[in-house]
Amino acid sequence: MLEIKNLHVKLEEEDKQILKGVDLTVPAGKVHAIMGPNGSGKSTLSYVLSGRDGYEVTEGAATLEGEDILDMEPEERAAAGLFLAFQYPVEIPGVGNMTFLRTALNAQRKARGEDEMSAGDFLKFIREKAKALKIDGDMLKRPVNVGFSGGEKKRNEILQMAVLGPKMCILDETDSGLDVDAMKLVADGVNALRDEGRSFLVITHYQRLLDHIQPDVVHIMADGRIVKTGGPELALEVENNGYADILAEMA
Ligand code: ADP
Ligand code: MG
Ligand code: MG
Repeated sequence: MLEIKNLHVKLEEEDKQILKGVDLTVPAGKVHAIMGPNGSGKSTLSYVLSGRDGYEVTEGAATLEGEDILDMEPEERAAAGLFLAFQYPVEIPGVGNMTFLRTALNAQRKARGEDEMSAGDFLKFIREKAKALKIDGDMLKRPVNVGFSGGEKKRNEILQMAVLGPKMCILDETDSGLDVDAMKLVADGVNALRDEGRSFLVITHYQRLLDHIQPDVVHIMADGRIVKTGGPELALEVENNGYADILAEMA
């Protein structure tokens, strides 16, 4: 599904290399987690994959189902099936949540050459998805993320994901700032979307989210590279011993 080879990325503004040769393959239907100390480049990786400005790829490649995504515009990446849930969801004053979701969905359908979903069909569709995530009608009508609590923002991101139905979902610290109940709701939402044709990259600093979203593979990132790969037990090792042991072992 997602294949990243020897990816090197620097900041455009200053001459600072952040990613120093990331290699990562996420097969279809799998959930991979990336853990790592603060500042190791986890968010940078998700930003570069989404096409955010300010980063320059100096070497390497990233493909989604064999297609080069680094050459695509952010909207093209989304239409190709890539979705990113961010650590800090943006607020969009003046745009109702439901309108935003329908516009986003129809833009993607159009880009794929599919028919737009009618207002009536969309209403049925969104109500069903929202109910499963315990999102009430009020939250659908309010402006996107404006005045939402931390937990509501995260649930809203999962709703966006459920509506768009992407193939490759990247979640960057979706657990940060969540209490246990909200985290569990987010995890349940992700688990409900797990599917043979859909892959996840779950980026998290802490192990606790991975108690609820069981990853198939865990990667440790440090200083701009994946330095260790293992099974779910690797996350527990981090939880118990921190990153110091793994980093010392690598050095
Ligand atoms: P993580 O998500 O693992 O905590 P980040 O990808 O956010 O790591 O950051 C990796 C490194 O790149 C850090 O040293 C951070 O300070 C630096 N960095 C990222 N973006 C910028 C930026 N726009 N300007 C300056 N430094 C940046
Ligand atoms: Mg960070
Ligand atoms: Mg980060």
